[in-house]
Amino acid sequence: MARIQAIRGMHDILMHDTPRWQFLEQSITAVLKQYAYQEIRIPIVEKTALFKRSIGDNTDVVSKEMYSFDDRSETSLTLRPEGTAGCVRAGIEHGLLHNKIQRLWYIGPMFRRERPQKGRHRQFHQIGVEAFGCPGPDIDAEHILMCARFWKILNLDAIRLEINSLGNSEARAKYRKILVDYFSSHSDQLDDDSRVRLTQNPLRILDSKNPEMQPLVNASPTLDQYLDSESVDHFARLKTVLDSAGIKYKVNPRLVRGLDYYGRTVFEWISDQLGTQGTVCAGGRYDGLVEHHGASSTPAIGFAIGLERLLALADFKGLPDNQSPHVYLLMAGESAARRGILLAEQLRDQLPTLRILSNCGGGSLKRQFKKADQSGAQLALILGEDELTKNQVAIKFLRSDAAQITIKWTEISNFLSAHLSI
Ligand code: ATP
Ligand code: MG
Repeated sequence: MARIQAIRGMHDILMHDTPRWQFLEQSITAVLKQYAYQEIRIPIVEKTALFKRSIGDNTDVVSKEMYSFDDRSETSLTLRPEGTAGCVRAGIEHGLLHNKIQRLWYIGPMFRRERPQKGRHRQFHQIGVEAFGCPGPDIDAEHILMCARFWKILNLDAIRLEINSLGNSEARAKYRKILVDYFSSHSDQLDDDSRVRLTQNPLRILDSKNPEMQPLVNASPTLDQYLDSESVDHFARLKTVLDSAGIKYKVNPRLVRGLDYYGRTVFEWISDQLGTQGTVCAGGRYDGLVEHHGASSTPAIGFAIGLERLLALADFKGLPDNQSPHVYLLMAGESAARRGILLAEQLRDQLPTLRILSNCGGGSLKRQFKKADQSGAQLALILGEDELTKNQVAIKFLRSDAAQITIKWTEISNFLSAHLSI
């Protein structure tokens, strides 16, 4: 029978990799706590209609990347391709947004049926951050400064920041017309994707990843000259804060998000070390989204970090790579095995950072020593019949020639503290 394998683009994260993930997650969540953001946990599956309404039918994500299926009552459900939609839904459903400021974050897997390649998977992971209720550029700056702090604590200095302002909806409408004229007059140079976008979502052409499209995109008209004065002022105030905080950035007038309720500030953090999949973090203002879901108008901004891409960049020098147990407990015979379980529990009470692996399944001491050696443990604690009657254990140094010793149970925790770096 053919073996069943994991789905293309959906990866197992194995034991040798999980410490890096944990380190990354802990580093980032520690910073989120510094800014007093609160975690929200939202379902992985939502109604398809939520994403259609939030992200928009004319986007790549909704038109070709979603994993959607009918559940038994025939409602279409979708594995979430991103977290903002669910976060907004939950915020409205629980009355978290009305006349309140909320600063939230979430972490978890997202699903998009894209062509798998380096830095692009079908199940990938994001940490998302959203802030509701703040209209001014101060919160935009807070998000960007927070990202800068993530990179700082992860020792990443080669991530650059690009920012832009998308203005208000009138500004974008004017710009859209200009763009359609421009790209229509060069329609012979458009690839298939861009032709579709030209009629459905012309701003998205600027987001094309096709290198052959770049000269045309790079020569396209930009939005800045159509910006409304309030957006110009908002953007200027954001830049002032970034300048005074010493955050370097480049204004990229072609940086867009092809969704209608994204306006004003958008930003991306990009690494040049990741090839075409260089955007590690993307975000922006979506002041129109909450109202678009039928709730009262609420300013909002958020960003999401692609954790696989960040993982490929992060420096894990500070991370101890040894996850082996410190101690392997060998037990000879039934009664030693019964007592050994309790002894190990007692040591876990006394030494919370000790990693102790108890032998399972009995076996001769010779076999148990072999397993102890393979486990990578520093020390073997041996509980034989003789030690059991005397309330003692024998200790063998597995990684040196030091002679075996015997100590009392009451002395074990002091001994281990003195001999191990725990
Ligand atoms: P891209 O332009 O790379 O397709 P996007 O604009 O679709 O990204 P967003 O929806 O803004 O991405 O998601 C935020 C971040 O999540 C991205 O910057 C990236 O780091 C990560 N990301 C998005 N899609 C994937 C994917 N398929 N695999 C891995 N990471 C992803
Ligand atoms: Mg994408």
